[in-house]
Amino acid sequence: MENKKLPRVAYFCMEYGLESNFKLYAGGLGILAGDYLKAAKEMGLPVVGIGILWKQGYTEQHIGEDGYPYDAYRNYTRNYDFLKDTGVKVKVKIRNKDVYCKVWLVDSFDNAPLYLLDTDIPENGDRWITGQLYGWFGEERVAQEIVLGIGGVRALRALGIDVDIYHFNEGHAVLAGIELIREKMENQGMSFEEAWEATRKEIVFTTHTPVKEGNESHDLELLMYMGANNGLTIEQLAQIGGVPFNMTVAGLRLSKIANGVSKLHGQTANKMWQHIENKAPIISITNGIHRGTWVDKRITEAYKKGTGLLETHNLLKKELIDFVYKKTGVKLDADKLLIGFSRRAAPYKRSDLIFTNEKAIGEYLRDRKIQIVFSGKGHPLDDVGKEIVARIVKMTKKYPESVVFLEDYDMTIGKMLTRGADVWLNNPRRPLEASGTSGMKAAMNGVLNLSILDGWWPEACIDGVNGWQFGDGFESDNFEELDKHDAEALYDVLLNKVVPTYYNDKKKWEEMMKESIRTTFEAFSANRMLQEYYDLMYTK
Ligand SMILES: *Cc1c(COP(=O)(O)O)cnc(C)c1O
Repeated sequence: MENKKLPRVAYFCMEYGLESNFKLYAGGLGILAGDYLKAAKEMGLPVVGIGILWKQGYTEQHIGEDGYPYDAYRNYTRNYDFLKDTGVKVKVKIRNKDVYCKVWLVDSFDNAPLYLLDTDIPENGDRWITGQLYGWFGEERVAQEIVLGIGGVRALRALGIDVDIYHFNEGHAVLAGIELIREKMENQGMSFEEAWEATRKEIVFTTHTPVKEGNESHDLELLMYMGANNGLTIEQLAQIGGVPFNMTVAGLRLSKIANGVSKLHGQTANKMWQHIENKAPIISITNGIHRGTWVDKRITEAYKKGTGLLETHNLLKKELIDFVYKKTGVKLDADKLLIGFSRRAAPYKRSDLIFTNEKAIGEYLRDRKIQIVFSGKGHPLDDVGKEIVARIVKMTKKYPESVVFLEDYDMTIGKMLTRGADVWLNNPRRPLEASGTSGMKAAMNGVLNLSILDGWWPEACIDGVNGWQFGDGFESDNFEELDKHDAEALYDVLLNKVVPTYYNDKKKWEEMMKESIRTTFEAFSANRMLQEYYDLMYTK
């Protein structure tokens, strides 16, 4: 891309998955943001990231003696050699008190620097606003969003960075739009309507979740009390975000264009928000992954050479087996089929779908013809998610040689599983999985996807050639019916296609691995995604 003519983009996100032990991330949203910056750096694009330096990050998950997950938090130091003090502090008003945000720079991104705001400094009475990522709701969440959005814009001004486009990655950042409106009203004497219209030309918005509860909303009175209105009246707030103030609706009304994160999710989002007036058009830009982070170089080499793909895979599989052994004491069998499954423990992801009918799957697990490694955490306040984890842990006790659970899912576990498993299982309730980037990681490593046709998979799947689909895209509001249908479909494909191919036709397996890599390597890279952001959103 021609650098000089390109607009400078400020990318706002609540979380960033840059490396495993830099705990600024919870899950997919943060991994996407991290991959975005890494790709922007490599492509030489004029991008700047805005985020928060979390003191504790997201919860750490441990499995107790009782087989139930519990949460722990630890304080992180700021002793990272890539973290630099910019000397800049900006001020925001929260609950009518001044809060100072120190601005740090993650100094390893050259043309795509990441600035992180931090309230844990002596000037503040309340230093814990930037304490826990997604740890709190209500007032504390709004306080965090004031820091990210309003503080983020002020940080850009204080740093002297000129920005052409503001990209809100999910609704947490929409208060930045309120700050951009306030600036124009105060500094340029515009009316509210003029300032809103001018601000819309500068903002693009990515929405991520088709799950209703995932789209945060707040009472207008709470926002006024917190100072999130930033000088706007309660009526003006309502015009932007509705009553109550929905962060996704606000994103759609503050932006010139918005996107869903796969083709199917773009359609779903259009249906989901069709009743909203005055919203930006929602297009589809499918997520992509940063290959340097997620794809093993040895696999890519073998693929390019055209020989030794399966052997190389078996090497990575052994590394996974050692990794699992060190963590759990369970020694899996390298000659037996190994399925990987790691997902947030949310009901729609149905982590335990494969155990629906133990009669169908039990003998395979007992005979160790099928081995499964699970990982994933629920939100600390989500008891349903914890029940899901507890049910899987129970299965590890019942089938101790073939079912494993790795506690505290993080980027390291994600990396190991998406390159070392034979098959990557994904069984959400369609159409609730917006994208699903872990499947892309697997596919590019030659790990074959076995997935419901949801998120990115309908765009990539050539059934029986580069992986498998099951469920045929069936949808139903009756979850009981849907789950039954999908579980039967899973058993059918797994037991009649995947297992026989694995044990009886290694040649075909290797051919499928090759196709998996060939069909996804470019198409689902973060580079392609960034190119589309520029072509379809930033320069439009
Ligand atoms: C890739 C990744 C995700 C996102 O994967 P999904 O397919 O969206 O579930 C989440 N967490 C970690 C640690 C990852 O590596």
